[in-house]
Amino acid sequence: MKRGKKIRINNDNCAGCMLCVLSCSFFNAGVFNPEKSIIKINKNDKTLKFTLKITVGCKMCGACVEACAYNALGWEDENTVN
Ligand code: SF4
Ligand code: SF4
Repeated sequence: MKRGKKIRINNDNCAGCMLCVLSCSFFNAGVFNPEKSIIKINKNDKTLKFTLKITVGCKMCGACVEACAYNALGWEDENTVN
């Protein structure tokens, strides 16, 4: 997948699988630990929808984008159709 300058988030596609979170923590801290992840997921208990947030310190490595099989994460300037 071609790298871009900004990560695009599509919350509606997120299945909450946590692979992006675990990939991020492994890339950044060498461990599979959600608390060490820069990308965070919040689940709304009423709607059961997920909201993704990239917090401070993102290195734009793309590990989270590569991990997502649901097209919830991508590159902003990537020429793809959702
Ligand atoms: S691009 Fe940012 S949020 Fe995504 S895995 Fe890399 S450091 Fe984490
Ligand atoms: S953004 Fe993708 S990889 Fe991350 S939890 Fe949602 S579906 Fe899974």
